[in-house]
Amino acid sequence: MRLILLGAPGSGKGSQAGPLTSKFGILQISTGDMLREARANGTEMGKLAASFMDGGQLVPDEVVIGIVEERLKNPDCANGFILDGFPRTLVQAAALDEALHRLGIAIDRVVEIRVDDEVILPRITGRRSCPQCKHPYHIQFGPPKKDLVCDTCNVELVHRADDTEAAVVKRLEAYHQMTAPLVEYYEKQGKLLVVDGVGKVPEVTKRILEVLS
Ligand code: AMP
Repeated sequence: MRLILLGAPGSGKGSQAGPLTSKFGILQISTGDMLREARANGTEMGKLAASFMDGGQLVPDEVVIGIVEERLKNPDCANGFILDGFPRTLVQAAALDEALHRLGIAIDRVVEIRVDDEVILPRITGRRSCPQCKHPYHIQFGPPKKDLVCDTCNVELVHRADDTEAAVVKRLEAYHQMTAPLVEYYEKQGKLLVVDGVGKVPEVTKRILEVLS
């Protein structure tokens, strides 16, 4: 199974990738996570990416396409994968199709998780995550048992630098301008499935599994 999760920032792509990877025994490939890791490691690419990420802008296509192409060549992708946060532009979508074609494979399904912008702002600004196990929390909708500490790792949760209100507004603009056209792109390929992303994580997972079955 090779899936793309499409949706605005805060629509729940990352939260859904976890249960779906367990269910299908496949990998999650998150370009946001890969860029944050490069940044934490202080690589040149990470420093370049950081300047775009903090302002809520997209990282240039050639940078992101390069890291995904390399990642897809890894043998651990052979069983399938879920792309979370990639592609985000038509240029990236075309590059992905070409890269997969060269590998003799293709995307099976694209799931768009649809959520209105008004719902997104409180969802994102309240997000926190564990720096170790990456488990997502929300200060209002899914708080940890102990104040701002991961239930499993017992370390302090972190708030992403681009989860501020100003950055979210920019990220939503980028989504509507650059990423929303991918809905039509994948609809034309006959691969698009749409689910309502409003509700608790398990409810949305159930909807995704229903449309995939
Ligand atoms: P995410 O964790 O998916 O919300 O991504 C966080 C940030 O990383 C985005 O706001 C972008 O700045 C950058 N980013 C992640 N994936 C991509 C992509 N496919 N294309 C361009 N920028 C990306």
